[in-house]
Amino acid sequence: MLLPPLLTLITDFRFLDHDTGSDHPEIPARLQTIHAALEQSNYFPLLDFQETRPAERQWLMAAHDEGWLFRFEEAVLSGKTSVDHTDNQICYDSYEVATLAAGAGLAAIDLLELGQTAQAFCLVRPPGHHAERIRPFGFCFINNCVVAARYWQQHHSRKRIVVFDFDAHHGNGIQSAFEYEADSLYISIHEHPSFSYPGTGYADEKGFGAGRGSILNLPLSPGAGDEQFLALLQGPVADKIAQWQPDAMIVAAGFDGHRDDEMSGLLYSTGLYEKIGQSVRGLSNKHCGGRLLSILEGGYELKVLGESVEAYVQGLLAR
Ligand SMILES: [Zn+2]
Repeated sequence: MLLPPLLTLITDFRFLDHDTGSDHPEIPARLQTIHAALEQSNYFPLLDFQETRPAERQWLMAAHDEGWLFRFEEAVLSGKTSVDHTDNQICYDSYEVATLAAGAGLAAIDLLELGQTAQAFCLVRPPGHHAERIRPFGFCFINNCVVAARYWQQHHSRKRIVVFDFDAHHGNGIQSAFEYEADSLYISIHEHPSFSYPGTGYADEKGFGAGRGSILNLPLSPGAGDEQFLALLQGPVADKIAQWQPDAMIVAAGFDGHRDDEMSGLLYSTGLYEKIGQSVRGLSNKHCGGRLLSILEGGYELKVLGESVEAYVQGLLAR
């Protein structure tokens, strides 16, 4: 019997068409540097590359109000260069590219559910975890992780979804989508909101009503590094997932906590990302039948972004 690929990467040259101008950190070269690093890795022959597809309107609307989708589409078609804030730079193609980025998660979930791959990692841009139901935020327009979670829950009946977010910044858009729900868990390790964008993600934000306990924020002080991160990952993160028993796991994979990335005051090493990859692989094998989907979020220092993603993938592939 032919075994499925160990890891499928969903990516697409059209992700390069989201043009954010000359003075913005979230640029097409981010994906190009990741590709270059993966191509030089020893494990490159093990990787399976697949194209994305546009997320259907139904799934975009599972995460966003239609008013925002219309407003986004109208902004790009009318030639605007940003929406709501100059952080959110756009070009004529940005709406289409954002729907393709959101669709990568759907394509990946279908492959996982059909048994056609062991695990998947969506190398996409624009990123998503700051995008709110009715507005863009922090380089993000469509919340790729929330769209994927809704698809897994509603199309494939995997009701209990955990999103683990290791981007240096708190994923306010994922938290606000999940905070009233008992069946959706958001866990984030990020730089403390007193010092970092977007100013949410305090430890006492735990969810409301039926969703009380469905948010686990684990902020780190500026200057924290591998040791502090791993203590949280192996302690409260692993404990929460074991106790909560998810049906599937999504990882919001952001690499801007690297010590050389000036987007945060965190001091992670490149090697930490390999350990994160190993850990999320292990947790998903143990608690949710190996159903594991990673989606790229931040990571802006081109000198270390490629090697950081390469290390994470190495961890995902570890046996
Ligand atoms: Zn970030």
